[in-house]
This record gives sequence, structure tokens and C-alpha cells, in this order.
Amino acid sequence: MSELSGLSDQSEAVSQNLTKVVWDTIVVGGGMVGAATALGLGQQGMRVLLLEKQPVDLTWQEDLPYQVRVSALTRASEKIIKNLGAWQGIESRRYHPFFSMRVWDELTPGEVLFSANDMNEANLGYTVENNVIQAALWEQVNTCENIEVLLDSTIESLSFENNQAWLSIEGIGLLKTELVIGADGAFSKIRQLANIGLDTHDYEQCAVVGCVKTERSHEDTCWQRYTHDGPFAFLSMGNNVSSIAWYLPTDKMQWALNLSDEAFAKEISKASDYRLGQVIEVAERGAFSLIRRHAEHYVKPNLALVGDAAHTIHPQAGQGVNLGLLDAAALVETVLNARQGNKAWGSFSVLRKYERWRRGDNALVQRSMEGFDWLFKQDASLKAVIRKPLLPLANKLTFVKNWLMGQALNGREALPKLAKTFPKS
Ligand SMILES: Cc1cc2nc3c(=O)[nH]c(=O)nc-3n(C[C@H](O)[C@H](O)[C@H](O)COP(=O)(O)OP(=O)(O)OC[C@H]3O[C@@H](n4cnc5c(N)ncnc54)[C@H](O)[C@@H]3O)c2cc1C
Repeated sequence: MSELSGLSDQSEAVSQNLTKVVWDTIVVGGGMVGAATALGLGQQGMRVLLLEKQPVDLTWQEDLPYQVRVSALTRASEKIIKNLGAWQGIESRRYHPFFSMRVWDELTPGEVLFSANDMNEANLGYTVENNVIQAALWEQVNTCENIEVLLDSTIESLSFENNQAWLSIEGIGLLKTELVIGADGAFSKIRQLANIGLDTHDYEQCAVVGCVKTERSHEDTCWQRYTHDGPFAFLSMGNNVSSIAWYLPTDKMQWALNLSDEAFAKEISKASDYRLGQVIEVAERGAFSLIRRHAEHYVKPNLALVGDAAHTIHPQAGQGVNLGLLDAAALVETVLNARQGNKAWGSFSVLRKYERWRRGDNALVQRSMEGFDWLFKQDASLKAVIRKPLLPLANKLTFVKNWLMGQALNGREALPKLAKTFPKS
């Protein structure tokens, strides 16, 4: 692996080398999903160029404050990351298994309790800071000899000719590849340059996130309360530290961000129904507008989209990056199968297999999140009649409850190989 930081300090020869090669694939975006995709292909002998806009910090100190962005990783994601050899990088930094999940509704007494014990699972997943996941994957990228990295580059154009994708990079020239993979996030330039339309829905909600310390222990449990404004969640992290996701109507976003720490702590305590007592300390916070996006197509000849470049969903069930990692694993498997069968992996017929594999599944999860959003925004009329008995009933139906959690934890049908088995240790 060689790391090329822009062209200012690079020789002409370097840029010529990059433009001479026909890359097996160029992955644009080295976030969690792009890095996993590049690794899955590079580790199996494909020649990969990974383009990333921002430098990735691999340094680590135990006393670093908790980051604002945190993900709840499912078992399927754990397997993918382990199979890519990156789990040690997470373990050597910071991660937190959680063993139960408690969900309740402000309108009704009682709760739904999901527990790892009931499901014969070791845990229900892990909360990990996004930068920890990304750094762990990048450590493996850096040791993979088939992956070259180009940092801080600006894409000028994308075109397709002679069964190849051509990316024009400022100051470098034309890069050629059989397959360009857009892993460049929700505002994907690759998606835009490929003229792929987007189906969008504004939830008119924002998520305020960050870490807080509470009076009482989180008991290694994730807590989620449904209110008329939207859900409120504690994701368990370190000692009495939880990452919060506080969903509010978008017009309250600035108000929440501008609150003093003391007032913010009070509001969070109230929104959580004081389940963990008072919030006694708050760290840096951030806020995101919530929009569902779904690319009309995931593929074109010589092009595929993965992760947030293809879809974004309401984060209340913490599925975004988990779906993205499944995209990565499915695309890797599709491409490697084609290569093994001497087929052109950038051809439309091959890439359509990937699209058929993932698009329906992602759409289903998106729609279920919308169903929840609709239901729990109702507190009057007939909908409240449906909403009120829902959680107490769900808690009684153990089979249904465990099935639902099993789907969320392990993924649905037709899992890609990388997400199916743990690697031999
Ligand atoms: C409030 C909130 C809470 C969430 N909680 C969870 C959760 O608990 N669990 C979960 O699974 N998901 C969660 N998600 C969703 C999750 O964060 C995203 O799905 C995930 O970050 C997507 O990863 P990605 O790699 O596809 O995209 P990104 O993380 O957006 O990465 C894209 C990468 O591409 C790079 N890039 C962009 N443009 C270019 C370019 N032109 N050239 C080169 N590089 C480029 C960027 O620098 C970045 O590194 C949450 C989302 C929100 C908003």
C-alpha cells in the first residue's frame, strides 16, 4: 500500500503511474463501508485504488473523549469486520457489548425487554465509535499490498467508454477502471456524476447525538423511549456513559444545540424519563437532519453504489452502517464470483445481481422505519388505539419478539459469505 496525499508534494511519475494502470476497481470514499469494500476486494487479489477526501487518524489514546458519532454493530457486521481482519483494531481501541434492550412508550406503562440470554446469544451487539471502526479497517487497508490509497483528491468528471469507467482527477489526469464503486456517503458525487436519481423523504426530524454521564448505571443495556416528538435512546458505552440519540422536530435542532450544558442535561434527563437518574455530565454534541434517501439504481455498467451513497434511513434502529456493510459484503462476493468465472465484473448483468440482492432488503428496512415513525408520532384518534397496546402485546409474544431481534442482529435472508461465519481463529 502506498499513501499519496494530493499532488502538491508528488512527482509527475506518481500521477503517471496511477493513470497508466487499468484498476480492477476504484473505490471512492474510505468511510466504514468504502474501506470494508476495498479490503474485501483487495484481500482477494484485486487491484484496488481507494480515494478518500479526508485523512484518517489511526493514532489512539485510552483517555480520548468519546466521539459524537457512534454505531450499534450487529452480529452480521461483527462477522464482516472479523473476516476482514479488522476486529482486533476495534478491540485494541474501545468497544462495548450490550446484553439487553428496553423499549417503552410514553403513552403506556410496561416495556418490551429484549435480552441476549433469552435468545441464547452472547450479546445483542456492540456500540463502537465510528472513527474506531474506520481506523480499524484502515489499519488493514494499510497492510494490504493490493490497495493503493489516494487522499485529498478532487474528482472532476466521470465517464464511461470501452467497458471502463474513466475518472478525471484534478492535477492527476484520467484514472481507468473496470468498476468504480461510489462509497462516498449521502451526498455522493459519484451518484450525481452518474446521473442516478434519488427518492427522498424528509422525516422533519433531527437527531441530537453525543455522550453523557448518568447518575445510575446503564446496565450494559440500550434504552429507547417513544414519545410524540420521536424516540429517545441511550446506547451503553463506558462506566455510566451512554451515547444518546434524541429525536426532535427539525425546528427544535438549533434550540437543542444552543442549550447550556446544564440545561441540556436537564432536558435529556426529562426526555429519558429519568430511567438512568439525572444526566450529570455532557460532552460535545452534534445534530443531523433525518432524510430517507434511496438511489433509483445501485448499478450501471462499470459502476456500483454502496452504503449511504445508495441509501440513508432513519437511525432509530441503528441499521445504517450495518446495511452498508452488508452491501459491501454482497458486492465483494458478486464481483469475486464473476472474476472467478472469468466474467467481466463491471458488466451490467453481473452488477444487477448485487442490486437485486441488496436493494429490496434495504427498501424493506427503510419502510419499516417509516412505519414506526408514523405510528409513534400519533397520540390521538384511532392510531393511538393501535399504538397503546402494541408494546405490552409485543413483550408477551416472546417468539415474535425474539424473531424480530434475531432479524436485526443477524441480518435477514441470503446473507453474503463474509457476514455468515466467524473466521477460524
Ligand atoms: C444520528 C445518526 C445516528 C446513527 N446511528 C447509527 C447506528 O447506531 N448504527 C448504524 O448502523 N448506523 C447509524 N447511523 C448511520 C451511519 O452513520 C451511516 O449509515 C454510515 O456512516 C454510512 O457509512 P458510509 O461509509 O456509507 O458513508 P460515510 O460515513 O458518509 O463515509 C463516506 C466517506 O466518503 C468520503 N468522501 C465523500 N466524498 C468523497 C469524494 N468526492 N472523494 C473521496 N472521498 C469522499 C468521506 O470523507 C467519508 O470518509 C446513524 C446516522 C445518524 C445520522
